[in-house]
Amino acid sequence: MNTLSNRINAIEESATLAMAAKAREYKNRGLDVINLSLGEPDFKTPQHICEAAKKAIDEGKYFAYPPVAGYQDFREALAAKYQKENNVPYKAENIIVSNGAKQSIANAMLALLNPGDEVIVFSPYWVSYDALIRISEATPVIVKGSIENDFKVTAAQVEQAITKKTRALIFSSPCNPTGSVFSRKEIEAIASVVLKHENLLVIADEIYEHINFTGDSLSIASLPGMFERTITVNGFAKGFAMTGWRVGYIGAPKWIADGCNKIQGQLTSANCSIAQRAALAAVTGDQAPTRKMVEEYRNRREIVYNLLKEIPGVKSNFPQGAFYFFPDVSSYFGKSDGTVTIANDFDLCMYLLDKAHVSLVPGGAFGDDRCIRLSYAASEKELREALKRMKEALQKLR
Ligand code: GLU
Repeated sequence: MNTLSNRINAIEESATLAMAAKAREYKNRGLDVINLSLGEPDFKTPQHICEAAKKAIDEGKYFAYPPVAGYQDFREALAAKYQKENNVPYKAENIIVSNGAKQSIANAMLALLNPGDEVIVFSPYWVSYDALIRISEATPVIVKGSIENDFKVTAAQVEQAITKKTRALIFSSPCNPTGSVFSRKEIEAIASVVLKHENLLVIADEIYEHINFTGDSLSIASLPGMFERTITVNGFAKGFAMTGWRVGYIGAPKWIADGCNKIQGQLTSANCSIAQRAALAAVTGDQAPTRKMVEEYRNRREIVYNLLKEIPGVKSNFPQGAFYFFPDVSSYFGKSDGTVTIANDFDLCMYLLDKAHVSLVPGGAFGDDRCIRLSYAASEKELREALKRMKEALQKLR
């Protein structure tokens, strides 16, 4: 009687959202918790974007259902962005606007995957890739990157993982949780493997596009032959501090965009009308606030990296994008402060939440249980305090 579907039983709760909820619960109990679990900019949405939303309300024109795929002028603006910034010739007909990049990925998977299909996932991966593949009744095939190679999976590893059942690979650069950015050469090598296999598609998650400290970014869809093979996912949450507005989008070959449109028409209809008008102002307006936020993240990355280095037994790469660290903390496993013994990543996160009041996410949810994820989308003051508390709490483990 009380049995949920196999689909639900096959997935875990989103660990990022679960840890954020835990942090909120501790805060409500009056505890001074520093929340570094959720990947959420601590900045406010830039003023001109908020003004556009207010204007849209006052105009009184945006109260009805928008077209499922998004307003035409917004889709045109997104296509123009892809042409200008990413060198991918999408037109409005290739664009579908959704309720966040997460829904964009879900739409694409539901539109393309059949039971038995395999999807290659580079590990460490964002928590929801694995779950969304399972919800689509396909099979995730995890390919592991190592910390020595900045957590990046190589083209040779991709080649080895491909079988007759492989339908897609999901690729993200800059990557959540590792902050790794694939170089042009690495992306070209992966694309050339993909092109050798007729039915293989790439879901390219470019949500962290703007938060890239290398100065070099490349959309895989812009490479020769890859337009037809790629679903390029993006959104406004990270680059424009618009997490709550829920605006994501894809650029994809028309047949795939049409499939996503069909799914979305049955699941949610269009994205919120006012949020779309705000996001239109974001994509067409002044990009200076985004650049300013990125400089701030760059500064914080430096601070956190140096403070992490001061904690014995913590091993980290130097992330080139996004706003996360994904340090290996496994040297603490098996240790105890006299009362609590740390068996794994989850125990360590709970220990740090209980003793240091710092909220982080266990790395197992991202495919590597030797690590924990720390989001540095928090103020410098909070970051310094959090790292100090973490160091003190970890020193007690022997
Ligand atoms: N993408 C962000 C994160 O990884 C937001 C939460 C989520 O949707 O997972 O923390």
